[in-house]
Amino acid sequence: MKIDIHAVEALDRDDPLAGFKSRFDLPEGVTYLDGNSLGAALHASYAEIEKAAKREWGQDLIRSWNKAGWFALPLTLGDRVGRLIGAAPGQTAVTDHTSANVYKALHAALGLNTGRHVIVAEGGSFPTDLYMAEGVIATRPGTVMRLEGVDAPRIEDLIDETVAVVLVNHVNYKTGALRDMEALTRQAHAAGALVVWDLCHSAGALPVELDRCNVDFAVGCTYKYLNGGPGAPAFIYVAKRHQEKASQPLSGWWGHARPFGFERSYDGGAGILRFLSGTQPILSLRALSAALDLWDEVDMTAIRSKSIALTDLFIKLVEARCGAHGLKLVGPRDGTVRGSQVSFEHEGAYEIMQALIERGVIGDFRAPATIRFGFTPLYTSFTDVWNAVDVLHDVMETGAWRDSRHAVRSAVT
Ligand SMILES: *Cc1c(COP(=O)(O)O)cnc(C)c1O
Repeated sequence: MKIDIHAVEALDRDDPLAGFKSRFDLPEGVTYLDGNSLGAALHASYAEIEKAAKREWGQDLIRSWNKAGWFALPLTLGDRVGRLIGAAPGQTAVTDHTSANVYKALHAALGLNTGRHVIVAEGGSFPTDLYMAEGVIATRPGTVMRLEGVDAPRIEDLIDETVAVVLVNHVNYKTGALRDMEALTRQAHAAGALVVWDLCHSAGALPVELDRCNVDFAVGCTYKYLNGGPGAPAFIYVAKRHQEKASQPLSGWWGHARPFGFERSYDGGAGILRFLSGTQPILSLRALSAALDLWDEVDMTAIRSKSIALTDLFIKLVEARCGAHGLKLVGPRDGTVRGSQVSFEHEGAYEIMQALIERGVIGDFRAPATIRFGFTPLYTSFTDVWNAVDVLHDVMETGAWRDSRHAVRSAVT
């Protein structure tokens, strides 16, 4: 069936999530397809930041740590994020950045699995995970890393009785490929290994079931699909069954059993509390809190159905309308094993993305030659998809991307 703009508009009319878009402050004339890198701003977040700043910080000053619940935010918000990733309360904290949480989780897993010295990860991982693993290895002589794509083609082939921990991305940041969390976790456990799942591209993008899949540790961002705001703190999940024995190396006072006892030595607090380190960014936590109010209203299965429909439509339209211009789909064609993003390869990828951004279609570029588009069902409409492909078609058809000004590179791509 040929898809036209009328069919696309009908999809928007039937969309049960369509009402959420007006809760976001999206600029006129922009089609935003980069919510997998930085989620859009909610009007409610502005109000919440203003309240936290003007009233609580400005007027109540230090009293707000108690009075406004500031001190408890990492764990209260943790439980609210936990609900979105299939974690029962008491297992998730919102704190620090994903990189630090990878470090903590890896250390904790190695500490629980003494006598084993192998970390399995993906060569195609989001690089910070590998960099942090290198940092962990530097403090633990004899520990080594085995990488998918380097030491074997599939991660499954790297897991054996010598492996302490498997560090793996739920959705690949570049290709959008979605892993089978349940099967991989089961395989790792059968070999006596623990798993750390990185949920940066799945939290808020699709249903995640950490408890049901028996996951050991998980980490992820809140500034992507969860719309927490630029630099919003990340989360860490530690399964209840590990909390008593697990220890983490960044043993700061916020994780102490009695932080205001000001004792000389560290005594890790109970449960997930121990995974905190130091003072947290309250204004950022409050912006996230407003976003989580919206998430409380959202049915994650509706998010998933719309996400698959948006990405399927995008692929279909790009291939139908821009197919002649050498854009090659990267990642799964089958929506059920795809996250909420679509990537294409092209030798002019950087320039093509710059030309799109100049025309108000914002996606991003990932080196060396990928253009990447994120689809956020809360505020991306089917008409947005249509418009984006229209602009892409124009940029390809006219060759506008070849203009030399599009080749100038910025620090953040
Ligand atoms: C975005 C992202 C990160 C970011 O880590 P930060 O420490 O929050 O900067 C980590 N891992 C993955 C898979 C990501 O996509």
